[in-house]
Amino acid sequence: MKLANYVYGEWVEGVGEGTALRDPVTGEQLVTVSSDGIDVRRALDFARRTGGPALRAQGYEARAAMLDAIAKLLAANRAEYFDIALRNSGATEADCGFDVDGAIFTLKTYARAGKTLGAARHLKEGGRAPLAKTDAFQGQHFLMPLTGVAVFINAFNFPAWGLWEKAAPALLAGVPVLVKPATPTAWLTQRMVEDVVRAGILPAGALSIVCGSARDLLDHVEECDVVSFTGSADTAARMRTHPNVVARSVRVNIEADSVNSAILGPDARPGAPEFDLAVKEIVREMTIKAGQKCTAIRRVLAPAGVARSLADAVASKLAGCKVGNPRNEAVRVGPLVSKAQQAAAFEGIAKLREECDTVFGGDPAFEPVDAHGEDSAFVQPTLLYCDKGLDARFVHDVEVFGPVATILPYADTADAIALARRGRGSLVASVYSGDAGFLGELVPGIADLHGRVMVVDAAVGSQHTGHGNVMPNCLHGGPGRAGGGEELGGLRALAMYHRRVVVQGGPALLDALSRDAADAALLDA
Ligand code: NAP
Repeated sequence: MKLANYVYGEWVEGVGEGTALRDPVTGEQLVTVSSDGIDVRRALDFARRTGGPALRAQGYEARAAMLDAIAKLLAANRAEYFDIALRNSGATEADCGFDVDGAIFTLKTYARAGKTLGAARHLKEGGRAPLAKTDAFQGQHFLMPLTGVAVFINAFNFPAWGLWEKAAPALLAGVPVLVKPATPTAWLTQRMVEDVVRAGILPAGALSIVCGSARDLLDHVEECDVVSFTGSADTAARMRTHPNVVARSVRVNIEADSVNSAILGPDARPGAPEFDLAVKEIVREMTIKAGQKCTAIRRVLAPAGVARSLADAVASKLAGCKVGNPRNEAVRVGPLVSKAQQAAAFEGIAKLREECDTVFGGDPAFEPVDAHGEDSAFVQPTLLYCDKGLDARFVHDVEVFGPVATILPYADTADAIALARRGRGSLVASVYSGDAGFLGELVPGIADLHGRVMVVDAAVGSQHTGHGNVMPNCLHGGPGRAGGGEELGGLRALAMYHRRVVVQGGPALLDALSRDAADAALLDA
C-alpha cells in the first residue's frame, strides 16, 4: 500500500515506487510513501487561500472546539494508532502511550485553554501608547493571526505528538497546517490526518500532509508562513540558511538535538530519596522509546564520591529490563526505528567509548527477546562512565539517539555547572537535590542554556512529571545546540502564529479594532 498525500483538498498518490517503511523488529516492508509529482506550491497556496480564511472566519473558541473534536476522534481510534506504532516504530505499549496519549492530552489542553479567548479573532496587547499632547493620536499593539501556512517538518520519533503539539496552537490561532512527517515513521501521522480529514472536523485546506521527501517545499514558503522544524542540528542548519527562507525572512522555529543532563546534588547520596529518584528517572529515560527522545537524559552528572555507586545502581536496574520484540509482554525496551538509526547509534557509542568505560551493555551482538538480531534494529541499553570531565569531547557533543547515557563525576558545584553548560544549549536538565544552597547556585548557573530545569527533591517525590515528559502548559525548546526554538508553554505558543503590529491613529479607530479583541495577557495566564 502506498500512503496518499492530502493536498489541495484531494488525496493524491505520489508517483513512482516510493520509499518503503519497515517493521524495525522483523524488517518487513509495511507501506510506501512518495511525494513525487505533488505540486507543493499549489498545496501551500490552497492552504493559504482556502484553509486560512475559513479558520479565521471563526473565533478562538470555535477553533478550540475543533481541537476538542480532534482529541475525541483520536482517542476513539487509539487502539489502531497503537497498532501502527507497534509495527512501524517497534513501540512498546508505554512508548505508544507516550506519543499517542501525549498528542491527545496536548490537544485537550489547548482546547480547554483556547476557550478562555472567547469569540475574539485577534488579540490586543497592553494599553494605549500616548503619542501626542492630547488623546487625539495614540498607539495600540495587536497580535494578528498570520495569513500564511504553518509548515511542519517533523522528526521520526514522535509521529503523533510531533504533529499535534504543533498543530494545536497553529489551528487555534487560525493558521492552516501542512505537515511533512519524517519518512521512516510517516504512517501514523498520515493515518491520523486521514481520520481527521474524513471526519470533516476542519474546513477544507486547514490540514494537509506530504509524505516522503520535502522536495522543493522551502522554495515556496512566504513572509506570512511559519516553518517549524524538528530534527537534527545538521538538517536544521540547512533550513535556517535556505535562500528563500532567508530572502523572505520566513519565521523559522527549530527544535534540534540536545545532550541533556541529569544532575545529582551533594545530598543525593545512596540511601537518600533523591538518589533513588535519580536512578529511577535515568533508567526510565534510557528505556522509554528506547531512548529516542530529544529530551532524554544523555549525561548524568554526579558528585565524584557518588558516581560509581550511581553507575552500579543504574546498571543493576538496566540488567532487569527485557529488550526485544514489543509483542512480547515482558519486553520493556523495543528497537530503534530503523537499521539506519541503529547504525548511527553504534557509530555514536563507538565514539563515546574512545573516552568512556562501559558500565553496562554496549554489545552489538546481544540477543533481543523474540527477534533476530540481523533483521532488527535493536541497541542494547548502554551505560558509560567518563572521568575526563571538561576534557572529554564526544560525551558533550555526540547525541546518541538511543538507550545510551554516560555518567560523569564532578568535583564541586562550579564544575557541575560548567559540565552542564558544555552541552552548549539543552532542552532540559533535571536536578535531584533538596540542598537549597546548591540549588541556589546551580539553577541560575545553568538557566540561560536550558529551556527547562526540573528540580526533584524528597518532598516532590514521585509526583514530578518526568525529565523527558513535555507538558503542554510549560515551555518546550532550548537555546544554542537545541535549536533556539520555543514551543508549547500553554497559550504562549500562539505568539508564533500571530504578528505583533502597532496601529497608530485616533481613539475611535483603536476602540473599534479593540472591541472584539481578546487580551493578549491571557496568553501568559
Ligand atoms: P532529520 O534527519 O534531521 O529529519 C527531520 C525532518 O527533516 C524529516 O522530516 C526529514 O525528512 C526532513 N528533512 C531532511 N532533510 C531535509 C531537507 N534537506 N529539506 C527539508 N526537509 C528535510 O532528523 P530525524 O532523524 O528525523 O530526527 C532525529 C533528531 O530529531 C534527533 O537529533 C532529535 O534530537 C531531534 N528531535 C528534536 C526534538 C525537539 O523537540 N527538540 C524532538 C524530536 C526529535 P525525511 O525523513 O524524509 O528525510
